[in-house]
Amino acid sequence: MDATLICPSCGAQYPEDDIVWRCRCGSFLDISYDYTFNPSQLKGVENFLRYSSVLPLRDPDGAVTFGEKFTPLHPMVFYGVPVRAKMDFLLTTGSFKDRGAFLMINKCRELGIRRIVEDSSGNSACSVAAYSALAGIEAHIFMPAGNSSAKTVQVRTYGATLHKVPGNRSDCARAAEEAAKDSYYAAHTWNPYFLHGTKTIIYEIMEQSLWQTPGYIFIPVGSGSQFLGVWLGLQEMRKAGIIGEYPRLMAVQSEHCCPLKHYLQGEETPELPKAPILPEGIAIRRPVRLTQIIQAVQETQGEVITVSDRDIVEALKASARQGVFIEPTSAAAVAALKQYRGRLTLSDKVVVSLTGHGLKASARMEEILENR
Ligand SMILES: *Cc1c(COP(=O)(O)O)cnc(C)c1O
Ligand SMILES: [Zn+2]
Repeated sequence: MDATLICPSCGAQYPEDDIVWRCRCGSFLDISYDYTFNPSQLKGVENFLRYSSVLPLRDPDGAVTFGEKFTPLHPMVFYGVPVRAKMDFLLTTGSFKDRGAFLMINKCRELGIRRIVEDSSGNSACSVAAYSALAGIEAHIFMPAGNSSAKTVQVRTYGATLHKVPGNRSDCARAAEEAAKDSYYAAHTWNPYFLHGTKTIIYEIMEQSLWQTPGYIFIPVGSGSQFLGVWLGLQEMRKAGIIGEYPRLMAVQSEHCCPLKHYLQGEETPELPKAPILPEGIAIRRPVRLTQIIQAVQETQGEVITVSDRDIVEALKASARQGVFIEPTSAAAVAALKQYRGRLTLSDKVVVSLTGHGLKASARMEEILENR
């Protein structure tokens, strides 16, 4: 099926073959295309392409994949709250970003794009590098110089070219945008196909829950690519008559970088500290799609929660003791349960998204364990 890129700000439209990554007015773009969704028609293997009827690909059968499977929705208990943990850190490269990269890179392949630029705190770079290698696309990755070396090594091992940028995440984004002037900027922060890839997580969660909507979903939010993917999928399922009420979408951020909270309070988000932030995957000072994230929080009667580093480390250890080793960014979502548990009842169905593997951030964790 063919998609049209649409600007939610000025209304401009572009056929997808135009290969634009943002609107001429400067806004991000969304996509519109025809789809149908009927759970009784789902068949075959439990993988990303199971939901191809709602994915904006022209030729889903021709898509390249690593043969990904559903990730478990695993029962765990945090702070006395029984939850089901969506274990996306078990995807191919160790984070949920594989879902977005899978779709974005397959779309690049369909459009004949040979060379891409991406900037990332780490995990989306790993995903983009891996799927680009699979699709035969040349990937240039821009990364802040101070980030976890495990991710850097992973990116290079897949064969991408790494450009280390001194400074913080914003300096990095600027460098990538500059480099993208003569190639395609495949950024998870902007790219709408990425969101349609990440939305497969909510289709999986719903199918694994026998189409019974959870009460709450706790998600760590940086640029919001998982959060907005979940929101997209939920809106589609509601339109298709599969769900009535939305789960409450709980957006979790670090107290050191919480643009959502500042936005709601009508404040400017201060500059980020120069030293890397512990949950590095959500250290995004100005999320491109901030207003969409806020809309998703409000329309689902969700909330914005900020967590401290201390609570993140405690949550990470509590998870590890249950056999689940996640990185600090993921543990932020768990840490939010500590604050929120008083408002949950035992009958609430709570899902927590475990977004990234613990081995990705072992260098940072070592510093913490040694109190450096
Ligand atoms: C990227 C990332 C996030 C945040 O995702 P956004 O799309 O930026 O909101 C959360 N957890 C991990 C492990 C990540 O890599
Ligand atoms: Zn526009």
